[in-house]
Amino acid sequence: MSKFIFVTGGVVSGLGKGVATAAIARLLKSRQLKVNIVKMDPYINVDPGTMNPGEHGEVFVTEDGAETDLDLGHYERISGTPMSKANNFTTGSIYQSVIEKERRGDYDGETVQVIPHITDEIKRRLQQVEMDFDIVIAETGGTVGDIESQPFLEAIRQIGNERKKDDVLYVHLTLIPRVSTGESKTKPTQHSVRELRSIGLQPDILICRTDGESLSRASTEKVAMFTNVPNNCVISLADASSIYLVPQLLEQQRCAEIILNRFGMESRSPSALLDVQPRLNKHANTTNRATIAIVGKYVQSVDSYKSLREAIFHAELETEIYANVEWIDSSIIEDEGCSSLESVSAILVPGGFGSRGFEGKIQAAQFARERDIPYFGICFGMHAAMIEYARNVLDLEDANTTENTLHTLHPVIALATQWETDNGSIENRNEESYRGGTMRLGGYLCELVPDSRAQKIYDESMVIERHRHRYEVNNKYRELFEAGGMRVSGYNPRDALIEMIELPDAKWYVGCQFHPEFNSTIDKAHPLFCSFVKAAAGLTA
Ligand code: GLN
Repeated sequence: MSKFIFVTGGVVSGLGKGVATAAIARLLKSRQLKVNIVKMDPYINVDPGTMNPGEHGEVFVTEDGAETDLDLGHYERISGTPMSKANNFTTGSIYQSVIEKERRGDYDGETVQVIPHITDEIKRRLQQVEMDFDIVIAETGGTVGDIESQPFLEAIRQIGNERKKDDVLYVHLTLIPRVSTGESKTKPTQHSVRELRSIGLQPDILICRTDGESLSRASTEKVAMFTNVPNNCVISLADASSIYLVPQLLEQQRCAEIILNRFGMESRSPSALLDVQPRLNKHANTTNRATIAIVGKYVQSVDSYKSLREAIFHAELETEIYANVEWIDSSIIEDEGCSSLESVSAILVPGGFGSRGFEGKIQAAQFARERDIPYFGICFGMHAAMIEYARNVLDLEDANTTENTLHTLHPVIALATQWETDNGSIENRNEESYRGGTMRLGGYLCELVPDSRAQKIYDESMVIERHRHRYEVNNKYRELFEAGGMRVSGYNPRDALIEMIELPDAKWYVGCQFHPEFNSTIDKAHPLFCSFVKAAAGLTA
């Protein structure tokens, strides 16, 4: 059995609980412990796959094809622990399982209730991720007072009762705000903990977010006294200049020792996993610079492209290039043209859905191609590049994706079901197949074409990358594209679906059907992003 660390959030939300959770995992991994992480989301959606990224942040995709909360991205990037379907579950998915069991008659006539049936299902899901991990860290989304969180808090309370005291530990994350007089206020923390204790949960460790400075000794003592948490277990988490420094901040306050001690584990000295600062310093002082435009639909909300921004950052660290990212709304390009792209050194069009702003993305791809500015098209960004090429180079004027124009004359991008069965005939493009397509999700093989740029960048012949899309490049057009100068550089070895394209004569012009950003971590930057960032800085990629 694993030890459990339960992380909950105080009455103020948005404090970076996911980052703190991932940082605890890295801290413990630096002690050579095997650590798994799970996120419990109190919302009713069965998974976040259908949620608007502008509101909820990006949907993160795991190798095994789960559409998950963006916190799983933090977990993988910061802690390096691979995530899977089992590492994220929601109220919706818990109810779905319980209701299925009820319909099957598994409860044998019992009245099915939140306690014990929902809480038992939560506990079962938590046990599922224990496997052979030394420690499982389970984060409950939301804040302590939320109605939706209650069954989760009750389930983690029960686990604390059922297991040995030294096998379960509760961490609570709160805010210590500072008012205009400069004073730090501990009241919200006191109230959070009181709320938690009223449902039977006593935190063992408090992590207090502060702005800028760490908590004064007086504030620490006050918090400790009001919350029944020992002084040394009140950890202050001042805003860090980088999320990757949070493990180090916890280390400085002996957080690993506190946890290991509590679990009755011998103390061990930390590995090099905690030495991130020197890399950050080198990056901050570099003279190599690039300006990358990201042209998308959800650019107003930074969380919509979280993994993408982090993947660029990992590549910046690896290549020692400082990249300034300009977020550009593709609808503005649609209305006003590409003037906002005049001064950038590279253009990236990320994944996306739907027609709003899509023509702007196509214009951005054209601008990059015609001016030979490094271009990286990810998923929808690759679709945009190919449609642009088809229209303006191959003279297929009406070329489009059937996602946006169902009856286009040249469906260069379409649902596989729309062209695989009968030469891509128009008859097959009925509304039903349009809606009925399911997403291709998770890791798929991509065979790289020898001597292509893609193959050289990866320096491999076969890779696995993660997908999240419905539409594919229409293979019926492959020959036309290749004859017209666009090279297919990667394809799926099983069904020949096109995975990567490039323009061999351009400085750097690459498209991929998958999302490489999901495979980048602080310890292992992704080769495509490294190569792109180098090209953006004018260095040979
Ligand atoms: N909208 C496109 C599709 O479904 C691309 C999706 C994406 O960019 N992730 O195929």
